[in-house]
Amino acid sequence: MKKFKRYLITAALPYANGPIHIGHLAGVYIPADIYCRYLRMKVEDVIFVCGSDEHGVPISIKAKQEGVSPQQIVDKYHEIIKDSFKEFGISFDIYHRTTSPTHFRTASTFFKTLFDKGAFVEKTTKQYFDTEAGQFLADRYIVGTCPRCGFENAYGDQCEKCGSSLSPDELIHPRSTISGSKPILKETFHWYLPLDKYEPFLRKWILEENKHWKSNVYGQCKSWLDGGLEPRAVTRDLDWGIPVPVEGAEGKVLYVWFDAPIGYISATKTLTRKWQLYWKDPETKLVHFIGKDNIVFHCIIFPAMLKAEGTYILPDNVPANEFLNLEGDKISTSRNWAVWLHEYLEDFKNKQDVLRYVLCAAAPETKDNDFTWKDFQARNNNELVAILGNFVHRSFVLTHKYFNGRVPELKNPDKYDNEVLGEIIKIRKQVETNLDNFRFREALKETMNLARLGNKYLADREPWNLIKTDKDKTGDVLNVALQISANLSGLIEPFLPDTSRKLVGYLKMAPLKWTEIGNVKVLKAGHELRESKLLFEKIEDTAIQEQLDKLAGIKKQNESAEAKLEPAKSIISYDEFNKMDIRIGMILSAEKVPKTDKLLKLKIDTGLDVRTIVSGIAEYFKPEDLPGKQVCVLANLEPRKIKGIESRGMILLAETPDGKLVFVIPEEVTQLGSTVK
Ligand SMILES: [Zn+2]
Repeated sequence: MKKFKRYLITAALPYANGPIHIGHLAGVYIPADIYCRYLRMKVEDVIFVCGSDEHGVPISIKAKQEGVSPQQIVDKYHEIIKDSFKEFGISFDIYHRTTSPTHFRTASTFFKTLFDKGAFVEKTTKQYFDTEAGQFLADRYIVGTCPRCGFENAYGDQCEKCGSSLSPDELIHPRSTISGSKPILKETFHWYLPLDKYEPFLRKWILEENKHWKSNVYGQCKSWLDGGLEPRAVTRDLDWGIPVPVEGAEGKVLYVWFDAPIGYISATKTLTRKWQLYWKDPETKLVHFIGKDNIVFHCIIFPAMLKAEGTYILPDNVPANEFLNLEGDKISTSRNWAVWLHEYLEDFKNKQDVLRYVLCAAAPETKDNDFTWKDFQARNNNELVAILGNFVHRSFVLTHKYFNGRVPELKNPDKYDNEVLGEIIKIRKQVETNLDNFRFREALKETMNLARLGNKYLADREPWNLIKTDKDKTGDVLNVALQISANLSGLIEPFLPDTSRKLVGYLKMAPLKWTEIGNVKVLKAGHELRESKLLFEKIEDTAIQEQLDKLAGIKKQNESAEAKLEPAKSIISYDEFNKMDIRIGMILSAEKVPKTDKLLKLKIDTGLDVRTIVSGIAEYFKPEDLPGKQVCVLANLEPRKIKGIESRGMILLAETPDGKLVFVIPEEVTQLGSTVK
C-alpha cells in the first residue's frame, strides 16, 4: 500500500432540509469518524471536513410550503445538524456550510476557471416551464409518471420508487409541483459538462487504476460507464443557489450537484491556509465517505470537474455504503420513518457509544441492512455490558479487593499468560488491516475479540479461587487482565471514544498512540488505579418498548395518510348543488335508539323548525356530549322511516380514512337557520 504524507477525509454533506438519522450515521459519518480517529492515533497528518449542503430545489420547495425563505430553512437545519453531530462526537475538524461567502467565491471561481478554459458546452434546449408560476421546472419542481416503472409521482431528476435517474423530458404526464398545472415547453440555454469527453479518462482511472475500490462502488461505476456518459447540465434556471458568474446568465444558478462537492474545498480553505497542500499535492490521500446514492457524483462527475480544472488531486478511495433500513422498512424522511439523532440523544442520555457500536456492528457495508430496536438492546446487553464492560469491571474489582487497587507484579508468567499477552499485538494488526481496507464491521469484531479473550482468560484462571492458595499467581493473572484492559482503552478509541476516555481515566494512564497498542507492560507494577464504575448499563425492555410504540404510532399515521380515498364523483351542475338546502342547526337533545348499536335519535333546531333526525353516529359520540352543538343539516332531504322513527334530514359528517366520523361545523357560532352554500 502506498504511503501518503497526509490525509484529507470528507464526509458527504448532509442536505439541510431535515435532521440527521441513523441511516446517515451508519452509511457515512460513523465509518468516516472511526477512520479519522484511527489515523489521528497513528499520528498521521489528517483533516476531516464536512458541512451542510444548502442549495437545490427541495430546500426552496420546503421554504415555499412553510412560507419562509430558503435561508431560514437552511439556518434552522444547519444548526440542528451541527449540534447533533457535535453531541454525538463526530470529530470533524470543520463543519462548514455552502451558503458561506467563502463557498460562494470558491464555487464561482471553479466554474469561471472551467468556463474560461472552454470546458463547458453551451446548449439551448426546450425545458418545461410553469406559466402560472412564471418559472422553469428543474429537478423536483416537476413530477410525472416514471417511464421505467409507471410510478405516478416520479421527480424530474429521479424516481424514488425504482431509483432510476431521470430528466424532466422523460416524464409521462408531467405536472408542476408549484401550481399543479401542466407545463409548457420553452427555450432556455445552459452550460453542460461534456462527460462523454471524459469517458476514456474515467474508464482508465476507475476500471484499471482503482480496482481496489469496494465492489459495490466499482460495480456501479462500471455500469454507468458501460451505459455511456452524456453531457450533464451544470446550471439551472432558479432563484436559490450560487449565481452563474458569467455575463448574460441572469436568473441562472449553479446546479446544486456542481456546487456541493466544491463545499469540501471551501471547508478546507476556511480551516487552514495550507489548504492547497491537501487538495493539490499528490502526496495527499483524499477519501470521500458517502452513501450509495451519491456514487455517481463522487466517482464520475466530481472527478471529471477536478480533472477539467487541472490542478487538483483525485480521490484515492470512495468507500460508499449501502442503505440501512429500520425495522424492515426503508428509512424515509417524508414518512418520518427514521430514528432521528437529536431524538436519540434525548431518549438515551450519554449512550452515544451504544449507538455508534450498534450502527458499526450492523453497518450496511456490502448490502442493505436492517436496524431493529431488539438488536440494539441485545447488542448492548449481550456484548457491551456482558463482554467488554464485564471484563474490565472484574479486572478492576478483583485488583481493588486483593491488591488495594495497585497493579500487581507479573512475577512468573507461564505459557498461557504469554500466549494471551501475545495476542494483543496480533489483534491490533488485524484491526489495522480491516480499517485500512474500510472493513469497519470486521475491525470492530476483532476489537471485541480482545475483550472476549480477556473474559475467557479470567474464567479459565478463576482468580477468585486462586487467591485462596496462590497470591503470587493471582497477581500474575490480574496483571495480565489489567494490561489487556489498558490496551483495550486504545483499541476501542476509534469506535467507542467516550468509553475509551472513561477507561483511560479509571486506569490513570495517558491515552495510547496506535503503535503503543500491543505493549504488554503499559501499566507498571504498583501503579495505582482509580475506582471504576460500570462502563455500560443494561437497557431495559421498557425503554425499547417506548421506541417500538413510537414507531407503531408513526406507521399508523402513515397508513391512514396513505389510505385509499374514494374516487371522485362525476360533475354536477350549479343548479343541482343549489337544490340542496343546507342549514346551520343545533342539537337540542340526543338519545340512543333502543335495540341498535349505531343509531342516535336527535332533536335538532334548524332555525326553521325543530325536527327529529336519526343518525348513525352512536359509536363515535356520547348522547350527553351533544346537546348545544352546532351542526350542518341537509334540511330538504326526503323524510325516511328508520326503526319506526321518521327522520327528516341529514347531519353532515366527514369520514376519516380509518372510518371515524366527525361533524362538519361552522368555524364560529352562527345564527341558526343560516344557509350553507
Ligand atoms: Zn420508477
